[in-house]
Amino acid sequence: MNYFCLMKFISLLLSLFICKASFSQDKAYVKNIINQLTSDEMEGRGYVKDGSKKAADFIVKELNNIGVKALNNQFLQEFYVPINKFEFDVEVIVDDTKLRPGIEYIVAPECPAAHGSYKIIKIDSATVDNPLLFKKLSKKSNRNKMFLVDKAELKNTIHKEQLSWILNNGMNSKGLVYIEDKLTWSASQRVEKYVEIYIKRGIVSTYLKEITFNIESEFVNGYPLNNVIGKIQGAEKPDSFIVFTAHYDHLGKMGREAIFPGANDNAGGVAMLLDLAKYYILNKPKCSVIFIFFAGEELGLTGSNYFVEKPTFNLNNIKFLINLDLVTTGEKGVTVVNATSHAKQFDTLVYINKVMEYLPIINPRSNAANSDHYPFTLKKIPAFFFYLLGDYPYYHDVNDTYDKIKLLKYEEAFRLIKQFSNTLM
Ligand SMILES: [Zn+2]
Repeated sequence: MNYFCLMKFISLLLSLFICKASFSQDKAYVKNIINQLTSDEMEGRGYVKDGSKKAADFIVKELNNIGVKALNNQFLQEFYVPINKFEFDVEVIVDDTKLRPGIEYIVAPECPAAHGSYKIIKIDSATVDNPLLFKKLSKKSNRNKMFLVDKAELKNTIHKEQLSWILNNGMNSKGLVYIEDKLTWSASQRVEKYVEIYIKRGIVSTYLKEITFNIESEFVNGYPLNNVIGKIQGAEKPDSFIVFTAHYDHLGKMGREAIFPGANDNAGGVAMLLDLAKYYILNKPKCSVIFIFFAGEELGLTGSNYFVEKPTFNLNNIKFLINLDLVTTGEKGVTVVNATSHAKQFDTLVYINKVMEYLPIINPRSNAANSDHYPFTLKKIPAFFFYLLGDYPYYHDVNDTYDKIKLLKYEEAFRLIKQFSNTLM
């Protein structure tokens, strides 16, 4: 180790151990932000009843309160996306029982508007593997029927090609009913020609004879969304940027009742970004710090993709970018996407964690297109994506709610990310 390295190493050690009086993270603040972002008024921060815009306005208000400035006097960056939205009725009835949306069933995000009662034909392994039965599926009279598929039952099917033909509705039927162990929703930029309904296993008999539904989905070509961008000016290197990103959108609603609050995904990440903003207002950073709250992440990284094509500042000014998504756990450690591309920075992170004993494990992972860091990585901008690990099974479902959030390792994760960021400046 040469003299310069030694001095850097000593100063890192000192900065780790000196407890700053202005230490800002505050679990009550973070909880309050998550609570507000997941409230019914936010409509799941998606594509119905201005949910996404309400969340954007809330973040702007919060940035103003903290003292973060807009770039060029403008916090919002508007863009438009195609979306298949479910603002009105979504109803499914089997055997005279109305199923509970989100809890007992979901419809596919690309589901077209459709209604009526339809006979159900169950597909079993014999149908797939017997050429005569399989041929019958193409009958014209099947076009006005629904087909029931339990993939778990069909996993030993010999004819995989036939199965995939069925799953792609080669029958040209009204649609498919799937039996699923876990209901996981998403959002779609396209609309399909046939209906797909996913029913939770155990709710209905798989020998169901008839299904009735009323699905009022609506495809909109240009739904407005907004990225939210704020800045804290650096004291020594104002033209050098450390960028923190987190998406604030979630899936919105499926019909009038089923709301997807997205507490862990990603109200938690938004709260941590705001908490970092509070810290950097009190502890003036050497470099400028930029905060970007992306919209439309769940719709295929639409906000971050738009931003890298129409950036509101020079992307070459970015020294390093840190994306946060799914950050409310941590009792099982953290995964760092792009760790293998930035070995030096990753070693620093591991070193801080080891000395300070923050999180049990830091998992390195190579690049992955799984959150908003990805469009930046494609533009060769150095970036890490942190997601925390723990016992939290509620992913893209109606149970990802405020009351499930424990923040067991929040403070540790916050300090780790903050101290790591300071070594980058
Ligand atoms: Zn997410």
